[in-house]
Amino acid sequence: MSDCIFCKIINKEIPSNFVYEDDAVIAINDLNPQADTHVLVIPKTHVASLAELEDEELMVKLLKGVKATAKKLGLTDYRTIMNTGKGAGQTVFHLHVHILAGKLTEKLG
Ligand code: 5GP
Ligand code: ZN
Repeated sequence: MSDCIFCKIINKEIPSNFVYEDDAVIAINDLNPQADTHVLVIPKTHVASLAELEDEELMVKLLKGVKATAKKLGLTDYRTIMNTGKGAGQTVFHLHVHILAGKLTEKLG
């Protein structure tokens, strides 16, 4: 999607350091971290939110990407969050899973 910030990051129109990448997902550090480690795992295919996710293969690949990202970062203890819908705090409408580890900021702690 042309006006989607995460699509631009995936397409490298916006430079970003991928902390993990495979055929289905990328993972990047959150711009505004809410924990010592705050990473976003983002499918390479544009899907607006979990509510719109129909592709079962992608569901599996997304979770596998979360596990692989955590493993690559050496995390054994971490939280995963998916915000679905404005009312739940979703601000970027390209599906993503937050991985949070270590001390949380006051906003989340
Ligand atoms: P949401 O609130 O939609 O679940 O999470 C969106 C997240 O994306 C927020 O935590 C926000 O800080 C992060 N974010 C928004 N724009 C950018 C960006 O351009 N780069 C990175 N790395 N993170 C972003
Ligand atoms: Zn997108």
